[in-house]
Amino acid sequence: MEAISRPLASRADFPGLVTPAGAPWHYLDSAATAQKPQVVIDALSDAAGKDYATVHRGVYARSADMTRGFEDARRTVAALIGGKDSELIFTRGATEAINLLAYSYPDKGRVLLSELEHHSNIVPWQLAGWQVDVCPITDDGQIDLDAAEAMLTPEHTMVAFAHVSNVLGSMLDARRAAELAHAVGAKLLLDGCQAVPRMPVDVAAIGCDFYAFSAHKLYGPTGIGALWGKAEQLDAMPPWQGGGAMIDAVSFAKTTYAPAPQRFEAGTPAIVEAVGFAAACDYVSAIGLDAIHAHEANLVAQAREALGAMNDVTLFGPEESAGIVSFLIDGIHPHDLGTILDEENVAIRAGHHCAQPLMARLGVTATARASFGIYSDEDDVAALIRGIERTKRIFG
Ligand code: PMP
Repeated sequence: MEAISRPLASRADFPGLVTPAGAPWHYLDSAATAQKPQVVIDALSDAAGKDYATVHRGVYARSADMTRGFEDARRTVAALIGGKDSELIFTRGATEAINLLAYSYPDKGRVLLSELEHHSNIVPWQLAGWQVDVCPITDDGQIDLDAAEAMLTPEHTMVAFAHVSNVLGSMLDARRAAELAHAVGAKLLLDGCQAVPRMPVDVAAIGCDFYAFSAHKLYGPTGIGALWGKAEQLDAMPPWQGGGAMIDAVSFAKTTYAPAPQRFEAGTPAIVEAVGFAAACDYVSAIGLDAIHAHEANLVAQAREALGAMNDVTLFGPEESAGIVSFLIDGIHPHDLGTILDEENVAIRAGHHCAQPLMARLGVTATARASFGIYSDEDDVAALIRGIERTKRIFG
């Protein structure tokens, strides 16, 4: 595979990529949250500053402009995944998006999850009272869709799978998952948190019913994400939080509700963050998600090759993964590794990655995880490997 030595985006665009002392920071934790480019920071700053006003209710020009900016942002975010703006609900993040669906979906029955789900695609279903079934994964870390096919019954009203695993980087065959769900009359939610920043996503081509993701993993701000849903599904769902902005008419005798998506957006929304979310979508779209995917796949291949050459390293997940590598080194706890790497200005994630059932399936309590972004390059991989070699000498 041809090595890509340069990052896809200029590191200088990302003020977060230097240490306080001004040294390059080898940030390998983009799957947790991505650093923001200056254009996103500027968009946030303008929206919070010179352009700021409330949305939807103001009678003055600034508010009308901000409302246009907010609704344009909805269109931009929806378009990134091939959806319509009328089908995109702004939420606090993917976690809130999945909670919204788990609570509001009118036909609560059995939901089929998988062993590799993030806690935010497990706990909401439990809390909302669904019967949870668990599809196994294959030994190389893919959701086992043959097993899913065998497990699905007409009692299942929902299938909720990660589009890309936040621990293993494994990519779901999402079209097949949609077909399998629909064959028994269930709907498919994809948790797209790790997919949207790493590959082109087209909800119409996939044929899924719902799609959840967060802005902060896509080089945008925290505090905002989205639930996309097919119009007929959203229309059938009752509101889940009450308040301003989600109503049609309110009286003590009877309250009626606005159509989707406003019906699901009670209260003053994250106005500034929505504008930043859209700026982040524009940023990745300009680079191109195909190019981003190829870039990260290349870095994953480099990292897996270097790690695989060490005979005391266990690699998890499939060869072909989207920007994420999980591994363990014999005799070195991932937390110790992470601490020593930090001294080398290399930031990795160590722990259960909010996927304790997956850790149990892998027979471990934690892994070390390196995850890449558009600003990552082979210097980051080299720094990781140098740091691991130093750690081994320390523990040697
Ligand atoms: N699902 C996956 C696959 C994730 O990686 C994450 C974040 N780690 C989430 C859901 C939750 O996202 P958020 O915390 O932004 O709501």
